Amino acid sequence: AKAMGRNNFQFFSPEMNRFSNERLLLENSLHRALAQGEFTVHYQPQADIASGRLVGAEALIRWHHPERGMVSPLQFIPLAEENGMILPIGTWVLREVCRQIKVWREVGLTDLRFAVNLSPRQFHQENLVGNIIDILREFDVPASALELEITEGSVMENPDAAVSLLNQLNQHGLSIAIDDFGTGYSSLGYLKRFPVSKLKIDRSFVMDIPGDPDDSAIAIAVIQLARSLGLKTVAEGVETTVQRQFLSDQGCDMLQGYWYSKPLDAATFEAFALHAAR
Ligand code: C2E
Ligand code: CA
Ligand code: CA
Ligand code: CA
Repeated sequence: AKAMGRNNFQFFSPEMNRFSNERLLLENSLHRALAQGEFTVHYQPQADIASGRLVGAEALIRWHHPERGMVSPLQFIPLAEENGMILPIGTWVLREVCRQIKVWREVGLTDLRFAVNLSPRQFHQENLVGNIIDILREFDVPASALELEITEGSVMENPDAAVSLLNQLNQHGLSIAIDDFGTGYSSLGYLKRFPVSKLKIDRSFVMDIPGDPDDSAIAIAVIQLARSLGLKTVAEGVETTVQRQFLSDQGCDMLQGYWYSKPLDAATFEAFALHAAR
């Protein structure tokens, strides 16, 4: 850990990929993080927009670096994706979330659904479906308690392979949400072919509604598109009552954002959920 002293901050910047020794260092520090338990999972509550009821949460990884403090997933997930560490890290997240779901089901939190992010490399990994099913079995968690968030990029890379994968996941009872909807390069045609159940409206479209007419038009279009295809919508990054009201008026189904709750550590989420259930 000494080698990554404090004047090495750009260690975590994408430029480092040019230097193989730094790459190796990063790989080592991600390995160490995994082995020494430096990762945790936080849970950001999701609510039904009309009733305000808690319906589930998105699992978001956190890295408590011994020297740097909290390192944002925006900094290390892209690098882990590039060097392959995302596979063991992703498996850790899935196991951790399922372990936690089992505990929460035992204290009566049985009606919540937990969303886990899958990066493109994870989505296309060998035996993804088998691995997920094994983890669900290990922790005795019903597939209906888990949702997978994938991006348009993941499905568009190889649409035929994606259709087959999504069908398999769907047959096992897992639900799929398209994350950051509208930000990727994609064709809308895939929505018809793919068994996805939710579109997550990206925060970039939510941030400036209702003041920004373009963003408002995009949010409305996504909600209506989802409606007509029989899909649910979740708005990300809802921070204000005005945004919530606008989305609710437009028929958006669920929301996630600071207005309802920030991501919470597991203990705080548990208290939040038990309180909401009363
Ligand atoms: P994302 O999937 O789009 O997750 C939503 C991000 O928006 C989270 O950032 C969350 O904390 C933030 N957010 C939620 N509500 C609000 C709000 O009202 N206002 C603002 N300003 N931000 C809000 P976070 O936790 O830093 O995660 C960043 C990204 O890292 C995620 O974006 C996701 O792409 C990736 N990520 C996080 N955890 C995992 C993981 O376990 N696996 C994989 N593959 N990627 C992950
Ligand atoms: Ca997500
Ligand atoms: Ca998202
Ligand atoms: Ca986003």
